[in-house]
Amino acid sequence: MQSQWSEGDAERMVACYAQQGVGRDLSLRVYTSRLLGGEPKLVLHGGGNTSVKTIVRDPLDEEVKVLCVKGSGWDMGAIEPAGLPAVRLAALRKLRERGALADEEMVRVQRANLIDPGAPNPSVETLLHAFLPHKYVDHTHSTAVLGLTDHPDAAERCADLYGRRLGLVPYIMPGFRLAKKAAEVFESDPDVEGLVLLKHGIFTFGGTAREAYERMIAAVSLAEERIARRSTAVFVPVRLPAAVATPAEVAPILRGACAIADPRGSGAFKRFVLDFRSNHAILDYVNGTELRRYGQAGVATPDHTIRTKNYPLIVPAPEPGKLDGFKTAVRDAVDTFVAEYHAYFARHNARQEVPKRELDPMPGSSWCRASACSG
Ligand SMILES: [Zn+2]
Repeated sequence: MQSQWSEGDAERMVACYAQQGVGRDLSLRVYTSRLLGGEPKLVLHGGGNTSVKTIVRDPLDEEVKVLCVKGSGWDMGAIEPAGLPAVRLAALRKLRERGALADEEMVRVQRANLIDPGAPNPSVETLLHAFLPHKYVDHTHSTAVLGLTDHPDAAERCADLYGRRLGLVPYIMPGFRLAKKAAEVFESDPDVEGLVLLKHGIFTFGGTAREAYERMIAAVSLAEERIARRSTAVFVPVRLPAAVATPAEVAPILRGACAIADPRGSGAFKRFVLDFRSNHAILDYVNGTELRRYGQAGVATPDHTIRTKNYPLIVPAPEPGKLDGFKTAVRDAVDTFVAEYHAYFARHNARQEVPKRELDPMPGSSWCRASACSG
């Protein structure tokens, strides 16, 4: 992965935002956030987050140290200064003294310390940014880094690749506990350039926007090179029917099986829009003999979960002339998928202090977007 940093572009952005009263620190934060957000190998739409520690004037015209951190609902690829709400840094850091802090209380304290009370909610990973001392902190869910860390022996793989360059943080759900743990890992070796969060993503940091950004690109590039060297495995193909039905024949069957009846009994249905994609990599994947094993391994990052759910629906190859059998198989597969989704939700919801709301149980993207650590 190449650094897209351009001194000219960065200075142009600083000059442009200066006309709107935006300071240099925040303008450069916007600039590299967009560079990161414009690369889908680093974050998908809405994923990841960035921050800068700077000084602003509060509504009483007094200077105050703040953390400007990505707000909920903003996409890094098109972020504006308003998408990085300023929160009083001292208040955030004071929270570290707490033994525990529920997500709801964390959000309440963060909102109470916004400089602009009308600003969006700061990211759920705000405290992780606040507890680190660096001026610029960048966070992505790099596919290559996750390819390295979504393994039982991820710690050894990371140590082998990064040495002491990056700290290693065990998997913890985003929130207060993760923020505290990440700060502890950093403080145990303050020379690190970033942190790898197992099964989650990567943070890099620096004294300047460019340093934090280019440390991200360098760390991701190392992971990409390592994966490229080892990617000799190929999927062993299954024996396919002589011909397969066309997307136009298959789509109505899939849409019908996944349609959701209006719970109010109006007789109306919510239906999915289908998008048919096919290329070499996709065909290799779906035609592998072990699809049912690796297809159920779960997605690489929460970014994917909120768009695709954790597992795909797997249906047999549709043979022309035998579509009635295919239809039955699809309906059975969807019934099983829905039952397993209800069970999955109930299992995890039982462990939550504050009950969560279940999304629609169908495969594919959800009607109602949840927020993972996209913040
Ligand atoms: Zn994250």
